Amino acid sequence: MKVNEAELVISAVRQEQYPDGHLPEFALAGRSNVGKSSFINKMINRKALARTSSKPGKTQTLNFYKIENSLYFVDVPGYGFAKVSKKEREKWGNMIETYITTRKQLKAVILIVDLRHPPTKADRMMYDFLKYYKVPCLVVATKADKIPKGKWASHLKTARETLEMEKEDEIILFSSETGEGKDKVWASLMKRMDR
Ligand code: GDP
Repeated sequence: MKVNEAELVISAVRQEQYPDGHLPEFALAGRSNVGKSSFINKMINRKALARTSSKPGKTQTLNFYKIENSLYFVDVPGYGFAKVSKKEREKWGNMIETYITTRKQLKAVILIVDLRHPPTKADRMMYDFLKYYKVPCLVVATKADKIPKGKWASHLKTARETLEMEKEDEIILFSSETGEGKDKVWASLMKRMDR
């Protein structure tokens, strides 16, 4: 998809703030610093629409980016900051749980992991969480440009195995530097939009 229009419509904390309408939504989940904002920006050809490197302690919001009047990317605050208090973690958990369990427009969650390293315990928990609520999910393994091509397949296999991914779930290799995988991800999203 060639994107010309993309805008941040709202940063929501509560359900009443989610945008009205019926456009399909894809939520982005991933560890802080994994490359989530860079992923969104690459997908929509922007340098810095989605803010990069969000710091802990900032207000945790669901950011709804409207793309071409045809879909939303919903940026979920990153997880896995050691310094975040238990109370903050609970707030984060409630917010994402509410969104995931109630939002009819949600077509799939894109779980971003780092291709360089095996997924972390927090990544596994996120994947399990999505499975538990039966939310369709797509795993994107980013920062592929940091790994030699010859090792891509084995790193993908490690990611799949560490997450104990279900066979029918897709994992797509990606790089926000080179654009590797971008067409594949768009194709996957388009397929899910009509469902
Ligand atoms: P976020 O916290 O998950 O939104 O992560 P960011 O998008 O801010 O990325 C964190 C850091 O990783 C930044 O320094 C990015 O430039 C870098 N980064 C993100 N994606 C890639 C990628 O595909 N390749 C490389 N080489 N660096 C990346």
